[in-house]
Amino acid sequence: MTLRRHFPLLNRPGPRIAYLDSGATAQTPDIVLDAVRKFETHSRANVKRGVHRLAEAATEAYAKAREQVAAYLSVSADEIVFTSGCTGAINLAAHSFGTLLKPGDEIAVSELEHHSNIVPWHMLATRSGVKVNFLPIDGEGRVVVQTLSPRTKLVALAHVSNVTGAVLDVAAIVAEAKRVGARVLLDGAQRTPHGPVDIPALGVDFYAFSGHKTFAPHGVGVLWAKAELLDAMPPFLGGGEMIASVTTQGFTPAKAPAKFEAGTPPISGAIGLGAACAWLATLDWAAIAAHELRLTGRLLDGLRAVDGVTVIGPQGLQCRAPVVSFDLADAHPHDICQIMDRHGVALRGGHHCAQPLHAKFDLAGTTRASLALYCEDADIDLFFAGLAEAKRVLT
Ligand code: PLP
Repeated sequence: MTLRRHFPLLNRPGPRIAYLDSGATAQTPDIVLDAVRKFETHSRANVKRGVHRLAEAATEAYAKAREQVAAYLSVSADEIVFTSGCTGAINLAAHSFGTLLKPGDEIAVSELEHHSNIVPWHMLATRSGVKVNFLPIDGEGRVVVQTLSPRTKLVALAHVSNVTGAVLDVAAIVAEAKRVGARVLLDGAQRTPHGPVDIPALGVDFYAFSGHKTFAPHGVGVLWAKAELLDAMPPFLGGGEMIASVTTQGFTPAKAPAKFEAGTPPISGAIGLGAACAWLATLDWAAIAAHELRLTGRLLDGLRAVDGVTVIGPQGLQCRAPVVSFDLADAHPHDICQIMDRHGVALRGGHHCAQPLHAKFDLAGTTRASLALYCEDADIDLFFAGLAEAKRVLT
């Protein structure tokens, strides 16, 4: 059982593409393309501003998308802020929540974070005198939950690592954060493509993710935050549609989520993301998770059998997402990816925007295979055929 048939790019004529780069951008199913096309051809207009029928239809479609995304996360639609992506969402939190912090307050991230969840906090530290602490990772590339400093005000961590595939022990982090009165932000960029997220059950305060990794268009993402936080946080960007009123003396912001959506939002992207979430919510995730993990197991077992390969990340399947990064006898990841491309295998090579993680493992980069619900055994077969050639040529 796979869902490959729903993805036109993967079914185009010609040799098979073994698309193992879903962690960078996932492919888009017909149902999302249809929703975007329907909007663009039936109700394209700006949202909120107009009273003509197209503007009303666009506003309705945009509001529906917010509901669909909220349902995927089991939260209220008023708490969903559409952004430009996961990076945009974390920057919004850093700027806006950051203004509520004082010099000497501390933020905890980890050594495995994507740069999107490090640099905005470094920038905040430069602006405001807060301190950024790094939780260590263990030899399998998992965050080690440590005693937090009592000055910690926020813990910002990846729900799933984009390099090691490790799934965070959210319960342990939330318990420790609660003990010191800190908020928790999860970067869900690598988690939302693998099924609905029950945010209330996680007990976190912020959740960020990107549309394009969740089978939707580029240029859209989401920041979810508890209503009380969105109320307390000042706006980040100023402009149209984020105000209740403006005078020559100043302005009064609108209520959330409008307060955080200055200017024309990514309307068709949000509609695509809503359609993606609605579709994903109908799928059998027990079966998909088992399928993705079985393929991940094939990758791990096969890689273990190749001389010179080191997998950076958990060696087993427990608390693991289908993301597998490896080193092949110090061969350059770009060379590996190029050879694999000749076999129709799309991989990613480099530091994956996680330089502190790679520094920890004393590597400049790794080669990464990241799977999604449309991957099949034939993709893994192609991967190992390509890898055999890469090994022969490069080592
Ligand atoms: N966080 C993680 C864990 C990621 O994997 C990525 C992208 O690879 C991002 C954040 C940034 O996402 P975007 O570039 O879509 O904003």
